Amino acid sequence: MKEKKSAAAKYPPLRRKVFVLLAVFVGVTLATLWVFQIFLLKPMYESLKMQEMRTVSDIVVRNAESEDLQTLTDSLAKTTNICISVYEISGPSARLRVNSHIRGSCFLHNVTSDPFMNRLYAGAKQEGYYTEEIRGNLFTPDKHGHSDNIPKSIITAQIVSGEGETSYLVILNGEIEPVATTTDTLRVQLAIITVLLLIFAGITAVIVSGAISRPITQMSKEAHKLALGTYDVHFDGGHTQETAELGDALNYAAHELSSIDTMQKELLANISHDLRTPLTMISGYSEVMRDIPGEMTAENMQIIIDETRRLTNLVNDILDLSRLKNGTQTLSCETISLTETVRETLTRYAKLASDGYRIEFVCDRDAFIYADKSKILQVIYNFVNNAVSYTGEDKTVIIRQICKDGMCRIEVTDSGLGIPEEQLPLIWDRYYKVPNYHKRAVTGTGLGLSIVKSILLLHGAQFGVQSTVGKGSTFWFSLPELQPDAEKQLK
Ligand code: ADP
Repeated sequence: MKEKKSAAAKYPPLRRKVFVLLAVFVGVTLATLWVFQIFLLKPMYESLKMQEMRTVSDIVVRNAESEDLQTLTDSLAKTTNICISVYEISGPSARLRVNSHIRGSCFLHNVTSDPFMNRLYAGAKQEGYYTEEIRGNLFTPDKHGHSDNIPKSIITAQIVSGEGETSYLVILNGEIEPVATTTDTLRVQLAIITVLLLIFAGITAVIVSGAISRPITQMSKEAHKLALGTYDVHFDGGHTQETAELGDALNYAAHELSSIDTMQKELLANISHDLRTPLTMISGYSEVMRDIPGEMTAENMQIIIDETRRLTNLVNDILDLSRLKNGTQTLSCETISLTETVRETLTRYAKLASDGYRIEFVCDRDAFIYADKSKILQVIYNFVNNAVSYTGEDKTVIIRQICKDGMCRIEVTDSGLGIPEEQLPLIWDRYYKVPNYHKRAVTGTGLGLSIVKSILLLHGAQFGVQSTVGKGSTFWFSLPELQPDAEKQLK
């Protein structure tokens, strides 16, 4: 118990663990959101805009000589919000070929004669694809240059050669929207989301850990009680599948432990009672024989001998049963004649014939099985012994050997009082005795059928009992019959 406690003390409580895990999860999610929404928003947006302009410029360049250039540039300008101008240049003169302007603030208005145009032309000529950033626009030029709130323009220029001496200068102007206000809004939103998520994580941690830790705490308290020998415990597994299953398993274990405990107590009480009865008889008769002259008779001696035998039988039964139950008993199987084994058992009862008992064995042929002879002998002996003890006034016991469909079955039938139906499943239990209306129920150990059951289970045999109250009982078992040539193997 001490070790268990110190092992548990090493670990943090479940609630704290769940909260920390959730807090880490929320932290990572929020950090990712902050990085993308606040720090990377502007550069990502600008880079995407640049890419878009490059694509539009390339399309216009490819269609520079097309008849429908104006229609194309108009639609491109409309969908992308980029202003487009294409100049036809032949020799030193430049003529505006198409012009698609969708913003009045566009930088490209009326710049044909400007040195600015020459700069674009020279840049495009030199670099192939020329780009330039401009702060402010035609109407609100940014004199000082760096406020995030002043719109920023990107100008691109590209030259493509046409027929003969003609070439075309494609100029684009795209406005980069100021994102500063957007980022400010996002920052406030993210701050609110952060607080909400942390509260949510806290509540979830409390609920989740409560659902798991509450039943576990309850179950561990009950388990401590169980360990101290209190079997009246209930494990409440709560409302999660795994803890509920654990609760069920522990309830089952507690129930089993409790019945084992009851059985052990009963066993001890029964054994001590059964040991005490013959011992009392032996000591009583011995004292009488010692103290009272003339009591040293053969009958009294016989009683002492019988009681001693009874004690020996009881001790042997207990030993047998414990060996069978704890698995130390192994079978030494061989091919045996089942019919001969029954006959052998019956020789022990020859003397009973003089007391009016009729023990009949009905069989049509010799049958062979693969089994442990001494154990099968014990089974038949127990069945016949019980039948003789519990049979009715006619003192008849009939043993039948029925072999068919590869199975050989031995039935032991008596004409006694029978066993009530509700008791039938119980008689195979260790120390069970049908409430004592039988003469022998008082003297029997209640271990016989339990030993029989263990032996037959070890053999993988089928077995059972049919009984009618007032008419009698038939106890039976059946084992696979060996081929007819088994007889030869036996010899
Ligand atoms: P016991 O030594 O008491 O006979 P068993 O384990 O052999 O113990 O039998 C368990 C109980 O089953 C007996 O106490 C008896 O009440 C009942 N029983 C067994 N065989 C018969 C039978 N042939 N007829 C009626 N009752 C029987």
